[in-house]
Amino acid sequence: MEARLKELQEEALGKIETAGELKELNDVRIAYLGKKGPITEVLRGMGKLSQEERPRMGALVNEVREAIQKRLDEKVEALEKEAIEKQLASETIDVTLPGRPVNAGSHHPLTAVIEEIEDLFIGMGYEIAEGPEVEQDYYNFEALNLPKGHPARDMQDSFYITEEILLRTHTSPVQARTMEKHEGKGPIKIICPGKVYRRDDDDATHSHQFMQIEGLVIDKNIRMSDLKGTLQTFAKKMFGEEREIRLRPSFFPFTEPSVEMDISCMMCGGKGCGTCKGTGWIEILGAGMVHPNVLRMAGYDPAEYQGFAFGMGPERIAMLKYGIDDIRHFYTNDVRFLKQFKRA
Ligand SMILES: [Zn+2]
Repeated sequence: MEARLKELQEEALGKIETAGELKELNDVRIAYLGKKGPITEVLRGMGKLSQEERPRMGALVNEVREAIQKRLDEKVEALEKEAIEKQLASETIDVTLPGRPVNAGSHHPLTAVIEEIEDLFIGMGYEIAEGPEVEQDYYNFEALNLPKGHPARDMQDSFYITEEILLRTHTSPVQARTMEKHEGKGPIKIICPGKVYRRDDDDATHSHQFMQIEGLVIDKNIRMSDLKGTLQTFAKKMFGEEREIRLRPSFFPFTEPSVEMDISCMMCGGKGCGTCKGTGWIEILGAGMVHPNVLRMAGYDPAEYQGFAFGMGPERIAMLKYGIDDIRHFYTNDVRFLKQFKRA
């Protein structure tokens, strides 16, 4: 009987040792310590023992049961601990894992350039003025000293909707409208950004739709030197402090005198290169003193008020600034192109 008990103990402890799950341990517990288990059976057989043997065997049975129970408890605890550790390990947050980038959009390069120009002029006290893209012939041409039949109208091939309505060919009608609103009194200091339209065959440097920014200053005692200083400030802020400017005589119907402004080439510093076609200068914008006829049409007395105006193409500025070789990139919305203009 004693040998049987020892055998059962060894068997049970062996099974506990190899058990890998709590369920297996429970099975061992029921099998060896349960009411129908072999140890209980041994106890039942104790009736056959002599009086002297009974207490010794009883003690031995208890000893075996306790030994099995103790190992069971230890093993359960070990398995539970292992399970918790496993769970902790699997749920650990790896702080070194790189995050998923947030795909933020970016400004269109033209918007970025226009905003940069706007900020620059707002800093000099200008206001932003806007007007309709579908415009009356009067504001687009006539109020700007371009009466019907004027040969200079041919400079701007237009999209007419009716005889009197067209897609504006420049942002100058915003100037005409603003001057008219002021009814010949008081100073004006505006810049007008916006889309304009001309009948053009699209190629690397031409587009039937493009952007313009024009500036207009009207006040008493406005001189050509004010225009020059303004353009100089603009050129340096936009293209670098070391830029020189050069004014060349030109013709626009709405200004007199009219000039074109060049800046010293930012690629070669003025020595001559491919970008400046060997001249050392790059044409940036047109400008001039507001024509007395334009002032008169808007109700201003040219003897009292003078003004200057300038206009430029944000596409050209952006192409020079970022080294873009084809104006069509701005309008085909290829994200591979647009993504390169993330603002810092
Ligand atoms: Zn150059």
